Amino acid sequence: MDIHRLPALLDNYVFLLHDPVNHTAAVVDPAEYSVVRQELNRLGANLSAIFNTHHHQDHVGGNQRLLQDFPDLIIYGSAADRDRIPGQKVFLEAGDQVSFGGHQGQVLAVPGHTRGHIAYYFPAASPGAPGELFCGDTLFAGGCGRLFEGTPAQMVESLNQLRQLPDPTRVWCAHEYTLKNLEFALTVDPDNRDLQNRYVATKIARQRQEATIPSQIGVENLTNPFLRWDHQDLLAVTGIFDPIQSFARLRGLKDRF
Ligand code: ZN
Ligand code: FE
Repeated sequence: MDIHRLPALLDNYVFLLHDPVNHTAAVVDPAEYSVVRQELNRLGANLSAIFNTHHHQDHVGGNQRLLQDFPDLIIYGSAADRDRIPGQKVFLEAGDQVSFGGHQGQVLAVPGHTRGHIAYYFPAASPGAPGELFCGDTLFAGGCGRLFEGTPAQMVESLNQLRQLPDPTRVWCAHEYTLKNLEFALTVDPDNRDLQNRYVATKIARQRQEATIPSQIGVENLTNPFLRWDHQDLLAVTGIFDPIQSFARLRGLKDRF
């Protein structure tokens, strides 16, 4: 799949899926109109779909004006976000399928950041190719989203789904928060060599103003404390041996970091 990563607003990424054969595109979470419009013009592509992960303004901000430009465009979002996503036409539930450019995506319910948050997972199209995960503000590179509407138990369940995806799966999360996330991660998982190495590499990448997205599930499983909430070392750090309570504590520490 041909995926274009477009920086938007302060630290958002919009992902544009391009089908060059049919001159069409779809976007995941158009934070703002102008960056999407520019890329569509550059590619000479029509916009046929918007895949929204959740209702927050920095994810749906471009919906309305894009819909004006492309009246046939179909806007997908969670059924639980009904009336909260501008222009929404399709109301998705866990297990539903979406398609674009011959690729089939699975809808995963991943509540926690918001109660209706969904992710779009496109399994590997051919052996050796990675699957693609668009997870909005649920899983970040080195971190996870804040719990605005959901409970720690919901978020744990959501992240547990995501961490079981194949290791090579590319993680297209919606914000460039990686360096800050890894700084926090080192405070709770200081002896993790993979994490230490990732931090150094990320610091260099950011000094060069390179994007750190997409990440990979395999990398996240080794280094992201919010996918390792039930690991011995992290339970020991919080001193709370109930995994969900311990996760809640980690998330609280990050909120105040
Ligand atoms: Zn959000
Ligand atoms: Fe966001």
